[in-house]
Amino acid sequence: MKRIYMDYSATTPVKQEVLDAMLPYFTEHFGNASSIHGYGQDAKKALEASRATIAGTIGAPADTFYFTGGGSEADNWALKGVMKANKNKGNHLITCKIEHHGILHTCETLEKEGFEVTYLDVDSEGMISLETLEAAIKPSTVMISIMFVNNEIGTMQPIAEIGKIARKHGLIFHTDAVQALGNVRINVDELNVDLMSFSAHKIYGPKGIGGLYIRKGIKIQNLIEGGAQERKRRAGTENLPGVVGFAKAAEIANENLDAHIEKLTYLRDRLVKGILESVEYSKSNGHPTLRHPGNVNVCFEFIEGEALLLSLNAKGIAGSSGSACTSGSLDPSHVLMSIGLPHEIAHGSLRLSLGDFNTEEEVDYAVESLVEVVHKLRMMSPLYDKVKGGK
Ligand SMILES: *Cc1c(COP(=O)(O)O)cnc(C)c1O
Repeated sequence: MKRIYMDYSATTPVKQEVLDAMLPYFTEHFGNASSIHGYGQDAKKALEASRATIAGTIGAPADTFYFTGGGSEADNWALKGVMKANKNKGNHLITCKIEHHGILHTCETLEKEGFEVTYLDVDSEGMISLETLEAAIKPSTVMISIMFVNNEIGTMQPIAEIGKIARKHGLIFHTDAVQALGNVRINVDELNVDLMSFSAHKIYGPKGIGGLYIRKGIKIQNLIEGGAQERKRRAGTENLPGVVGFAKAAEIANENLDAHIEKLTYLRDRLVKGILESVEYSKSNGHPTLRHPGNVNVCFEFIEGEALLLSLNAKGIAGSSGSACTSGSLDPSHVLMSIGLPHEIAHGSLRLSLGDFNTEEEVDYAVESLVEVVHKLRMMSPLYDKVKGGK
């Protein structure tokens, strides 16, 4: 059976050109970038060229970009590092309820250590309110961390405006841009951002490598202690194949950004339209227009998300659900709860995230399959029976 991947927000395949760029750094150019000899010099050169490439795609000077072991580490570093280094200014951090767990769990840890965190609500489309944000600022506030693009419902926050508010009040502004990179044009100055988290495996690069942009002058403590790598800010021998792959992926994403956005937006709109038109009791989640070009998140009433995923998987379609049953918890995702969906509806949610290798045929097949699968599952639902029986 042909398999169709529609889970690009979970991870992406490494593109062939990216792999080709990486391979020599496992074998011929295997040197440690800290070594003095030729092997080390070659590694160092590739490391700094990669840094410049990635920084260039976000309009940042090369020496403000630091490599990390992924997006989660960048999120941890930004929050823990800034809050701990700026204790003299205060202990308050403002974030929002639909952040990635890389942010939310880090905030919980900070709270246990005596820091204070405000978690802003979002509206039914997943947007924070700028007025509520500004009202939450107090004399002890040090930092604002609001994600750029949500990984579940795709909603894009007004980052430049949030940055303006941060500037106006002299606050440090971090954004988790893991889902934004490669899907929206990014310029750290135009967005008024001080720190930004990235991950390579969401943009057709390898897993286990990411980065943190840190504006010059921002005080931040180290998270990983040890050697003097990354200008003494992030210890550990550099993951050079990862670094080179990340740079290649960022370069490709940047060159093809407009075409990528246009293609995904077309496929996404076709998919959503197809689903909403042909499946009754279905609803699209997230913002209608200010959203990730490839993100589709839909709720189906009288359906259990896990059953839906398994049935779709049987038809070769790989998606993901908004319910967290697989992780041992019965609660639906914190994101779907935050946009105000009732439990039972949040449980029937499906995320299909599209990427560069999807086609129109696949989208049409997904709609067809969904119609079939949803119908079959509803036939087994006593609740649906009741609703239909009453008609
Ligand atoms: C995937 C993701 C992360 C985590 O990145 P990793 O490299 O997997 O650690 C953080 N934030 C968002 C929004 C993500 O989508």
